[in-house]
Amino acid sequence: MREGKLIKTKLLRRPKIVPDYFSDNILDIDFARLSELGIKHIIIDLDLTLKKKLQWHVDPRDKKYINDAVKKYSFKSISIATNNMLRIGRYAEALEANVFQPFWVKWKLVRKPSKGYFDKILKQLKAKPRECVIIGDKLKSDVYGGNSAGMLTILVKAKGGDYWYDRVLFTRMREHRVLSKYFKKSSR
Ligand SMILES: [Mg+2]
Repeated sequence: MREGKLIKTKLLRRPKIVPDYFSDNILDIDFARLSELGIKHIIIDLDLTLKKKLQWHVDPRDKKYINDAVKKYSFKSISIATNNMLRIGRYAEALEANVFQPFWVKWKLVRKPSKGYFDKILKQLKAKPRECVIIGDKLKSDVYGGNSAGMLTILVKAKGGDYWYDRVLFTRMREHRVLSKYFKKSSR
């Protein structure tokens, strides 16, 4: 887990698209540090964070690492927050996690990174934003959404390959460009 804030100056405010921390994968996440920072609720994205595409279970090593951390540091809750609208019970059961999925308000689908989605999580967990960390692979839905809601954010590298639509939309390339632009600016 590496710090996302390369330099801390008063002049340069960190954009909401830049995470607090970067992590290669779930096993690289420093839960002890998160506990020290006052984190009580762990929120994890599903697709490409907890599971590869076409993978139908949580990696046993990830499962053990997360479950051990929850016990050791007495985190109050663990949740899966996903834009996936399919049945995801099997992943939640592995972690004994709450599940947050997109929902409809009138004619509008509320999903990450929208404020309504994160408000619902905070309300249901009865949590303050600063007590929550969101761990995900996407700059927009996970990092921007989480930062906007006032949560701590960790960007992990996508587990396995990307989905075809991310390849078509050049999502990674654009994400990389946004981040490198910020870090170039901040190291001047
Ligand atoms: Mg994802």
